[in-house]
Amino acid sequence: MSREKSAELYEKSKEYFPGGVNSPVRAFKSVYGTPLFIDKGDGPYIWDVDGNKFIDFCASWGPLILGHNNPKIREKVTETALKGMSFGAPTAIENELAELILKNNKFIQKLRFVSSGTEAVMSAIRLARGYTKRDKILKFEGCYHGHIDSLLVKAGSGLVTFGETSSAGVPESFAKETIVVELNNIDAVKQAFKEYKDQIAAVIIEPIPANNGLLLQEPEFLQALRDITSKEKALLIFDEVISGFRVGFEGAAGYYQIQPDIITYGKIIGGGMPVGAYGASREIMANVSPEGAVYQAGTLSGNPIAMAAGIAQLTELSRSGFYKDLNNKTQEFAESIQRFASARNYKVRIQQIGSIFWIAFTDREKTQAASQIDPASMEKFKVFHRECLNRGIYFGPSGYEVGFISSTHTKTDLEVAKRAIFEALDLTF
Ligand code: PLP
Repeated sequence: MSREKSAELYEKSKEYFPGGVNSPVRAFKSVYGTPLFIDKGDGPYIWDVDGNKFIDFCASWGPLILGHNNPKIREKVTETALKGMSFGAPTAIENELAELILKNNKFIQKLRFVSSGTEAVMSAIRLARGYTKRDKILKFEGCYHGHIDSLLVKAGSGLVTFGETSSAGVPESFAKETIVVELNNIDAVKQAFKEYKDQIAAVIIEPIPANNGLLLQEPEFLQALRDITSKEKALLIFDEVISGFRVGFEGAAGYYQIQPDIITYGKIIGGGMPVGAYGASREIMANVSPEGAVYQAGTLSGNPIAMAAGIAQLTELSRSGFYKDLNNKTQEFAESIQRFASARNYKVRIQQIGSIFWIAFTDREKTQAASQIDPASMEKFKVFHRECLNRGIYFGPSGYEVGFISSTHTKTDLEVAKRAIFEALDLTF
């Protein structure tokens, strides 16, 4: 498998971008080799610039639930682009996407479109602070909420990949407004509410934490967060940038049947285009400018082409039966990898929910907090990742990242992938 052209492009890109990339984990710093430069994608496959074909489980880090190059999305985007790229004025297509979402999601009544998950969370935090007139935010160790200053504290994603838990350039005074506690530990949350009585504006959580491995929480823990935030008059924010439209159209709120106060979306909502959103009840959203005093704006917010991609994608997801098939095939896939690994006594536990899975190199039955992950297990992932890549299987280049299955991964694709994964596991142990 030649990777000559990728290697050449990488040499050049290093002259242009820090680390040669426009987002850190892409740089292959925590796996073997150098980044593959991708030429094109179709369905479950991607091809690199050297012409190598891979079954893709990274899915652009989550947005592509319908696989690559979906014809309906492509057509809708093309048709919309013929009318112009951006107007910075209201368009009917924004209403169309909002209606599609709000009609099929009982957990929010109004929303605002932005252009990334980071922006959605940043705006949700400001809204929570404006609404409660409090400053502190409680987050969980290992949850990643985008690269917002005060939330880059014990975050997962690229930060944990690089063995860091915070970022340079974040003033101490900002970080001081962030309280960090362990996941799945309600006593720690209670303690924080005691210590910072009437100061906590919101508790923010990825209800399905998927940026530091897949740290599935007990439903009782999430419910307890709902109860304590209600009691303490703080808001509960579900950051559903990954889980939104992924585990079901109503995301994790629907999956666990828990009503948060604010929900943030990204990734899938834009069908592969840059879209984020935050939504809440009418009462809370009335605090957003120009109705209320919480300012938030965006030149390209609600961009028509991005909206078009979102509409085409979410229309497919709103069809009945969509999630059942997808989730079932992911579960079967995860279970058969687990069976293979268990039969050989490999220290592997596959965590899975909906169409998200994580291959954990551990013998812990459940991993539910960042501190339960042994950093040494990432050495195993490195070998596994290299052997998968050599066999035409593309995973995100970090053992802390999850895999995604799309509606276009067929039974045959998954069989082929499994055989490659089994060989890769044999070479890892
Ligand atoms: N929140 C969560 C849960 C995420 O997983 C991410 C990105 O991975 C973000 C927020 C930030 O989204 P974006 O990368 O679109 O800014």
